[in-house]
Parts: sequence; C-alpha cells; structure tokens
Amino acid sequence: MSVQEPSAFSLYRADMLNIYDIPVQQVQGVGPQKAEELQSLGIHSVGDLFDYYPYRYEDYRIRDLAQVKNGERITVQGRVCSEALIQRFGKKARISCKVMVEELVIKAVWFNQLYIKDRLKPGTDVVLTGKWDQHRLQITVSVYEFSSGAHSPRTGTLQPVYTLSGSISQKWLRKIMGQALKQYSSHIAEILPDQIIRKRSLMARAQGIQLIHVPEDHKEGQAARTRIAYEELFLFQLKLQAFRQLNRARADGVAHKIEAETIRQFAETLPFTLTESQKKVVNEIVKDLRAPYSMNRLVQGDVGSGKTVVAAIALYAVVKSGHQGAFMAPTEILAEQHARTLKRWFEPLGIEVALLSGGMAERKRRDLLASLQSGLTDIVVGTHALIQEDVYFRSLSLVVTDEQHRFGVNQRAVLRRKGMMPDVLSMTATPIPRTLAITAFGDLDVSTIRERPKGRKPIQTFWVKDDMLDRVLEFIEKELAQGRQAYVITPLIEESDKLDVQNAVELYELLSAHFDQYKVGLLHGRLPSDEKDATMRKFSEREIELLVSTTVIEVGVDVPNATLMIVYNADRFGLSQLHQLRGRVGRGAHQSYCILIASPRTEQGVERMTVMTETEDGFEIARRDLELRGPGDFFGTKQSGLPEFKVADLTHDFELLEWARDDTAELVAKSEFWTGVAYASLRDFLYREQIFNGEIID
Ligand code: ADP
Ligand code: MG
Repeated sequence: MSVQEPSAFSLYRADMLNIYDIPVQQVQGVGPQKAEELQSLGIHSVGDLFDYYPYRYEDYRIRDLAQVKNGERITVQGRVCSEALIQRFGKKARISCKVMVEELVIKAVWFNQLYIKDRLKPGTDVVLTGKWDQHRLQITVSVYEFSSGAHSPRTGTLQPVYTLSGSISQKWLRKIMGQALKQYSSHIAEILPDQIIRKRSLMARAQGIQLIHVPEDHKEGQAARTRIAYEELFLFQLKLQAFRQLNRARADGVAHKIEAETIRQFAETLPFTLTESQKKVVNEIVKDLRAPYSMNRLVQGDVGSGKTVVAAIALYAVVKSGHQGAFMAPTEILAEQHARTLKRWFEPLGIEVALLSGGMAERKRRDLLASLQSGLTDIVVGTHALIQEDVYFRSLSLVVTDEQHRFGVNQRAVLRRKGMMPDVLSMTATPIPRTLAITAFGDLDVSTIRERPKGRKPIQTFWVKDDMLDRVLEFIEKELAQGRQAYVITPLIEESDKLDVQNAVELYELLSAHFDQYKVGLLHGRLPSDEKDATMRKFSEREIELLVSTTVIEVGVDVPNATLMIVYNADRFGLSQLHQLRGRVGRGAHQSYCILIASPRTEQGVERMTVMTETEDGFEIARRDLELRGPGDFFGTKQSGLPEFKVADLTHDFELLEWARDDTAELVAKSEFWTGVAYASLRDFLYREQIFNGEIID
C-alpha cells in the first residue's frame, strides 16, 4: 500500500492517525476504480476527502405546507391516497396522484416517469421533493422516495452538493463522505492554536468538517464554513508572516548609512514642500533602508498624491550612501518622463541619471551598461525589462517600481535569481482595497500617502451624452484660450489595437481641423517610441496644447498645466482605468475638469458613469469597482497573483482575512512559535511549503 504525499498539511499527534496519510480506499465502499476517479478530483487521502467541501446545500427538511411560499422548492412527507392517473400530450406524459400530507390532500405530479405508476398504490408512504404550486396545491416532483417506515439518510436534512466528475454521483459521494466521517472523524486533528480558537470563537476542526458536510441547518453550515475559511486564510497568512519574520532575521540586505540632514537638505532643493503624508512615508522608507534586512515596501497613494518625489528621495539616499538605484516604469513614455524629472532634480547635485530605453542605439546602450557596471551611473530609469536583461551594477541596492500593479508580483524572485538582494520599493496609484493588499502583498509593508499636495482643487467631472459634442468642443476651446492644455482620449475598440489607432487618427484629423489655431498632437501605441517621446515632451513643454491619445497615457503621465480630460465612449472603460485617466489632470493649481462622453447601453456602464461623477476618491472607486466586477477581475484574473481558496472568498471574508493577518503576525513574533512543541506541526507545515528556503511568495 503506497502512502500518498500529503496534499495540504499533515498534522500529527502521537495518539492519532494522520488522516492525510490514510489512502481514501480505506473508506468502506471505495474500491480501486472509484479511488482512481477520486484522484482526478485531487482526493488521495481521507484528509483530502474531508477537505472536499460542498459548494451549496439542498434542502430536504420536511416542511409545514402552511409556511411555504408559492414556487419554493420543498420536501414533504405523506401517504398516497388515490390511484395514479396518466395523461399524454404528444410525446410527453404526465403521471399524477393525490397525497395526504398532514391534514391536507395535495396533488403530486411527475413528468415522463411512467414506470413509477406501479409503485403509486394508495397507502404507500412517500417523501417528495419538488416545486410547490400554492394555488393548485400541487407539487411537481423532482426527487422522491417510497418508504416503508425507514427513510433514506437524505430525508429531513440539508444535503451537501459537490462538484463532480466521471462516474461519481452526488449520492455516492455523500454516502462515502458520511462513511469516512463515521470511520475517521475522531482522527481529525486540530490545526489552529488553542488561544486563537478561543479568541475568535471558532469551532474545533473536527466539528467544522463534520458540519460543513452535514449541517443541521444553514446557520450551522455557515458557522462551519467560517471555521474552514478562517483556517485557509490563517495558513496562507502564516506563510507570508513567517516568511517576513525569517527575512528580517536573515539580515541579508544593505544597511544604508543615511543622515537625516542629508534628506532634509535635498528636500530643500525641491520646488515645493513635502506634505505631511509624504514626510511620514519617507521616514518609513528611510527606516527600512537603514535596517539590515531587505526592504519590501509598497507605497500606496491616489493619483496625483506625489509618489514620484518620495521614490526620488529614497534613490537619493541610497546614492548618497554609496550605492546605485534602478527606477522602473510600466511604459516607455513614463520611463522617459521619470528620467527627465530625476535629471532635473539630481543633476545639479552631481548625481548621474540615465535612461535605458528600448529604442537605444547599440553603441550608446553598451556604454550605459558599462557605466552601470563600473558605478559611474548612479541611477538608471527604464521599463520593467530593466531587471530582466543583461544589466549589471557595481552595487545596486534599491529598485523602485512605479505602478506596481502593472507588473505582477514576481520581481523580487527575478532579482534573487540574479543574485541580487536590493531593497524594493513599489508604488501603486490603484488604491488597492486594504484587504486585497493584505492578501496579495502580505509580505509587504504598506505605506499610504493620504493627502494630496496643498492648493489642489477637486476635479469637476461631467457625464454627457454623445449628442452634446458641440458643447464639449466649445468647452475645450475655452480652456485652451486660457492657456491650459487638454487630453482627448479616443474610443477603445475591444481587442483591436488596429481600430484603436484608426480611431485616434481620425479624431486627430477632425480636431486638428476644428482647432486650427492651436497645436494638436497625436499619440498611440503603434508610433515608434522616439516619436512618442517627442510628442510627450512637446506636450509637457506646451508646444502641443491638445493631445489626442489612446490609453497609452493612462498611467503616470504628469503635465500640471493640463486641466481638461475628455474621454470618448467612456462607458467602455473600467472604473479604475477612468480614475487613472482622470488623474492626468488636477495636478496643478488650476481648476481641472473631466468630461466623460458616453451613452451607455448596459446598466453597469451607467453605474460606472454615476460613480465617476459622484466621487473622486480612488479608494471609494476601487471599492465600487470591486463590487461591480469581483476581485478576480480586479487584477485581471489569472495574472492577479491572488491566491485561490477552496472556501474563503475575498469579497466577503474581509474580516476573517484581517483576523488571520493579525493573529499570524502576533504568532510568528513569539519566539515560542519557533521552538515550542505546541507549534511543531505548524512549523512542519511551513517547512513543507518551503518557507525556509526563502524562495517563495514574491
Ligand atoms: P503620482 O502620485 O500620481 O505619481 P506625481 O508624483 O506624478 O503623482 O506628482 C504629481 C504632481 O505633483 C507632480 O507634478 C509633482 O511634482 C507634484 N508634487 C508632488 N509633491 C508635491 C508637493 N508636496 N507639493 C506640490 N506639488 C507636489
Ligand atoms: Mg506616478
């Protein structure tokens, strides 16, 4: 008999069998063939079988007909009190009879099951499940039992409904589950520490498993579900928190020497004073940079909150302490903008900044790579290809990633594979709802920039229908006449980059003709990158006043004099995308506007337009977005990096997730956790999940 690898975790006590080591064939009624089919559902051991949870329950509890609403699905118990009657219509046939339920005579109806006629004899006891028609006092039967006294185990209960495959039937799986519980439930070991179970008033694991499969009522099923969901989130968070704890202990990062005075002096050279929020976040970062463990921090701040300067200060600090930094952006346009900004701030101070761009001439590129390797260049800016390519540094100690949500979550792994352990600072303008941040980036510290720079006026947002274009054009004219600049975002054609471009070109021609006294520019993804850069540079220097663009400028672009954002077919964009687009304006002291042109055809489209006009708060928008789309979609399903759970559900189990985060953080901070006997099986779990190799979760 071969023992399977435990699939989830195996926790043991000397006096207990480990249910994850017991092959599922040991359950009475599971033969070799069925065992094989169970394997295709991922069920190898008895433990796996227990962890195969139902996704809903069917209600076979016997109901009092007086309390049933019309159309509800019910189960009743009664006695046949008439001969069966058969009616035929064309190919269909219907069989019916009268049934006495309590004091009431009802009619029971079956379709196309003539073979049961012989069994419907007056006096037969039946249990019927089906849809109730209150007006006709009639039940259309979908499930039935003829019984002489003893009912099947289904009657009177909630029955679990499982995902099935192969020849495994619902009925068989229920039977096997019941059998397995009978044989082995006393061997279900507790996983969670006692004090947590008490603190959170959770069920014991054995009880949770018993009741999630066979609950008395929905409330019990719910309580069991809570226990199991918490456990999933706990184990997930335990990995993250343990990993962080070990990472700290490992002290494998650079302990930068940074004087407070250095930072203060640099801040004074900036054209503005930092907000309190920015100062707070800078302090958090500097603390990490000074510490010997490698930093992994996410700066979360709404569009326009001023994240770039925070990153710049961090870069300045590491350069001043003798190291190099890399700054990565999701697009070439943005990389170029950041390079320009950093050069403006740093070059007067003798810090060498270079842009590594895709379209660079081979020779120039080779020179740049050499100067990074020798340490002549202090800071390199580029797209995320930067760390993946053959770029080597004399001493890279900080990697900044702008718009981190665009990159996926694997950078640290990439860096490690190259043998580098720099501090990592990620920035995101997509305000990730707190709970998602906890899950997806559980091994990150999160800093939040809460306020925007002073003197910013709220952006006024209008939603107009397609037929109001003339007024929109007048509005653009008015802003341009006052010396402001405007963006016009062209319609998005699903899945068609080519049509997007065509649209942009046509709109550009139209608007150039209309605004012939102004300089109009065009930007789209198919332009060569030097042309894109040139256009963007012209826009930022006001040589272009009206910029027609596809969503290539969606994130990060910063031109404070631009005050007007027009979005065509705005209902085709997602909420967070619209928020990003709107965030291109409102970056200076002037009043800014966002005009969404849309005649939405779906309810969701209307909802999105409404949300946009109602709020400018990125956090609120992300929350509404999440509601409208669900969390998978939020990060773009598979790319999301979000873990998948069997029972826990990130949209609804917010509170459990926070409990799990807090409880595990507290747990791993105790030295007892790493040495105490009581925690041996949890440590064992971590060991199997390879937490100790420092490889996972990035
Ligand atoms: P985001 O957080 O969206 O990346 P940026 O870093 O691009 O925002 O900053 C938006 C604009 O605000 C930039 O023009 C930047 O120079 C400016 N800015 C940043 N911090 C301040 C501040 N404390 N006071 C005034 N302006 C600021
Ligand atoms: Mg930015």
